[in-house]
Amino acid sequence: MIKKLFKRVLSMGRSSKIKTVGACEVIPFKVHGVQREGISFAARRVTDGLQAAGFQAYVVGGAVRDLLLKRQPKDFDVATDATPEEVRRVFRRARIIGRRFRLVHVMFGEETVEVSTFRRMIEAVDAQTDDHGRLLRDNEFGDQGQDAARRDFTANALFFDPSTQEIFDFHHGYADIRANLLRMIGDPATRYREDPVRMLRAVRLSAKLGMKLEAATAEPIFSMKGLLGNVPEARLLDEMLKLLMSGHAVECIKKLRAMHLHHGLLPMLDVILEQPMGEKFVMSALANTDQRLREDKPASPAFLFAALLWHEVLAAWNAHLEAGQPAIQSLHFAMDEVLQKQRAHMAIPHRHDAIMKEIWLLQPRFEHRAGQRPLRLLELPRFRAAYDFLLLRCQSGEAEMELADWWTEFQEASGERREEMLLPDKGPKKRRRRSKKPSASASADQLVE
Ligand code: ATP
Ligand code: MG
Repeated sequence: MIKKLFKRVLSMGRSSKIKTVGACEVIPFKVHGVQREGISFAARRVTDGLQAAGFQAYVVGGAVRDLLLKRQPKDFDVATDATPEEVRRVFRRARIIGRRFRLVHVMFGEETVEVSTFRRMIEAVDAQTDDHGRLLRDNEFGDQGQDAARRDFTANALFFDPSTQEIFDFHHGYADIRANLLRMIGDPATRYREDPVRMLRAVRLSAKLGMKLEAATAEPIFSMKGLLGNVPEARLLDEMLKLLMSGHAVECIKKLRAMHLHHGLLPMLDVILEQPMGEKFVMSALANTDQRLREDKPASPAFLFAALLWHEVLAAWNAHLEAGQPAIQSLHFAMDEVLQKQRAHMAIPHRHDAIMKEIWLLQPRFEHRAGQRPLRLLELPRFRAAYDFLLLRCQSGEAEMELADWWTEFQEASGERREEMLLPDKGPKKRRRRSKKPSASASADQLVE
């Protein structure tokens, strides 16, 4: 405790000079301006607790980068020289997680802080790699400098000590952040070979943070993009989800396309972005999700997947209709086919299926604007998501805007106004099984419920 206090007093911001200790630059508060108050309560408890127990402990990675860029960090990760078992012993609520990397989750109230032990990169000679040089194992413990070197970008390799408010910088990350540059640590081609997902991270982080990809970091991506094909699907999907849910998906997709990286990533993107209608729809879905996330509104991956696959579903639905099958049965077939096809390439988790299907199945029901059916639709728990989806369809020109406007008004309207709005009921329903292209203009009575 006394040691900590002493350290704090010493670092009360007197120094305004960057010190060099070995391979590390120590940047004082007076230079970087990041205050310990920017660190979450739980992360500070974790670094304080570990330091009091005699260990090194720093806030590391994205959080330090974001604070320097004056952005609110998403979460706070801590790096330490304590082993996972030692970390667990320091805190009352802590558990070791992970198979590949053993991390500790330390809980304070609602907040969980991820604590990782310094790790080192295993040299290529004794590392296990696949045939293309991808690292299969990199979880050996190391020291702080080695932990910095195994990270991806210089901006992601900064350590902040909340008790002294100093930043420890082994790779000139501070200068790169100030120059707004995202630079790979080490030889970019080697680092992409070790882990091709870093190419996607380069695109995502530069789009999200508005940082420029440094020339040598960007250069090998074009010729190495094929390596993404060797990355396990689940990991690729994870990264794609991060990208799509980053709040900057539109920017990310534009960058991916500019770097010719979008091919083969999400098979659905290949097809969809090539059709003008599909592209308009997907881009407005992404813009809409970006907007929601930036306003801190919830956005679900299932909704996004439903949007990404919609034009494939439409095409398959059409094919069944043209073969003379009834409308809703055709839609069911189409949904199953598209989901199955996607699953062969991309591990969209099954848990999203039910919501995606509900959103799709409710689309034809917006066509019914007579009798009790609109009221029944309003009552459904998935109405809101399906309505948001309808808006996207109308905005992209696939359905008439008039239909969206009708539903916008109808859901807010009084009982009396709703009565006026309902279209005349055409009497007893005929079960007609005529086939027609599915679209907003498909007439309601053609779609058999
Ligand atoms: P975000 O703000 O999106 O969370 P982040 O940089 O914090 O961005 P994380 O996936 O949370 O990204 O990773 C935390 C840190 O782990 C990174 O800052 C980086 O130092 C390191 N890291 C993550 N992925 C890789 C990778 N593929 N190769 C090397 N280092 C990585
Ligand atoms: Mg992070």
